[in-house]
Amino acid sequence: MSFIAEKFSEIAPSQTLAITAAAKKMRDEGIDVASFGAGEPDLDTPQHIKDAAIEALQEGKTKYTPATGIAELKEALAAKLLVDNGIEYEPSQISINCGAKHSCYNAILACCDPEDEVIIPAPYWTSYPEMVRLAGAEPYVIETKRENGWKLTADEFEEAISGRTKMLILNSPNNPTGAVYSQEELEAIVEVAASEDILILSDEIYEKLIYNEKKHISTAALSEEAKALTITVNGFSKVYAMTGWRLGYTAAPAEIAKAISIIQSHTTSNPTSFAQYGALAALQGDQGMITDMVEEYDMRRQYMMSRLQKINNIEIVEPEGAFYFLVDTTKIGLNSMNLTEKLLSRYQVAAVPGAAFGYDMSVRLSYATSLDVIKKGLDRFEEFCHAH
Ligand SMILES: *Cc1c(COP(=O)(O)O)cnc(C)c1O
Repeated sequence: MSFIAEKFSEIAPSQTLAITAAAKKMRDEGIDVASFGAGEPDLDTPQHIKDAAIEALQEGKTKYTPATGIAELKEALAAKLLVDNGIEYEPSQISINCGAKHSCYNAILACCDPEDEVIIPAPYWTSYPEMVRLAGAEPYVIETKRENGWKLTADEFEEAISGRTKMLILNSPNNPTGAVYSQEELEAIVEVAASEDILILSDEIYEKLIYNEKKHISTAALSEEAKALTITVNGFSKVYAMTGWRLGYTAAPAEIAKAISIIQSHTTSNPTSFAQYGALAALQGDQGMITDMVEEYDMRRQYMMSRLQKINNIEIVEPEGAFYFLVDTTKIGLNSMNLTEKLLSRYQVAAVPGAAFGYDMSVRLSYATSLDVIKKGLDRFEEFCHAH
């Protein structure tokens, strides 16, 4: 017999772990691995943010805070959401959580019952289906099409709806595809959601990492109707290079915000006190670092585009946000675990297998790494593709 809860029987361990472990082992043996595996910025957290957290520690801000976060940070977030995103939220509708991953999980837990279905467009961020299962609900995955830029269409969404559908998870800009939804595309999706009373969890963590003068559109900003059925999720990890700080937030209709606050009060109590003061400094300080960071990522993105476009047995869609390329390797014909294993063992290139994102014939290449590593890695990747 097993003491492990039944609901865990369906929860898969992270598929990216095997490759990460193998790459680390090779590096420890002194092998020069070029890694496209990064899921986080390759910069350090800016100094003024660190300083604010250190100061908070030294001032003794080391105790519990309100469950959903300190008032100053919630007010600053309400102002940010209004100015940057065009959405009017009361601070009471905002909940600061231990990372945007936690924000997503809280939102799913607050809204989904065991019989509920949650629609997840694939390729998806690897944790969504497992979070839905952990919450006891059922993920319903729809494969989007490369021809549509890996974006869910309103028609595909409508077709996937059943009597049990409770929520749709949208992620724009997208990890792993870099897809950015336009206002028209989002409006069409919201129209379907509104007519069927389906919630939208809108994960906007990459909102500022956006290229080609594309504009990020927040789902909740589209209309009052959209706002009433949207839970906006965002965080500090990607845009301020604060992954280890574990701070994200939800902004939601009052009733949902209240449920999230109750869940949080009984589970984590509150996000880390002094980390919140760092986040406050991030919002209030100079935002110039973001422009510099986006310029740097864009330079790498364009370089990778120009190289990848020349390889004839792979397909890519130009990513317009985040810091990833999803390379469609259908023509190579290996499943993504075999492909990434071979790529690592024979060509010393680490990449994340598409199976982790619900699209097996692909690999994800991250450009949150230096141009030198990118150049070296692409030389090798090109050789691999030519040999297949
Ligand atoms: C990185 C990431 C997150 C979560 O980041 P946190 O570090 O938990 O704030 C959420 N969604 C997507 C799509 C991500 O890539």
